[in-house]
Amino acid sequence: MTLGRDAMTPLTVLSVSETIYHNLLTSIVQDIVSRTTSRQQLQDARYPGLAPLHHDQRGALDVYGRPKPQEASVYFRCPNCSRDLSANRFAAHLERCMSRGARRG
Ligand SMILES: [Zn+2]
Repeated sequence: MTLGRDAMTPLTVLSVSETIYHNLLTSIVQDIVSRTTSRQQLQDARYPGLAPLHHDQRGALDVYGRPKPQEASVYFRCPNCSRDLSANRFAAHLERCMSRGARRG
């Protein structure tokens, strides 16, 4: 409590109001700062020298500073038929691949 932090301040409605408001503000600031500080300390202890995530003003690069990959050049292996297929064709492939498998089974 910081009531009477200045003994010379007369107790008026205004000064008591300000003290209550100050107490409210201080406890909120202390709460936020202690949470942020301890989270940062934990992160520094676990991952020393961790680089912050990349922020691109233009919105072209991702959080690692890399451009968007061409999805057509990314390949998945279908777990059903073990064929490699383009990532942006995977859903369309599954529709045919899974129904074919069901018919056979
Ligand atoms: Zn398949």
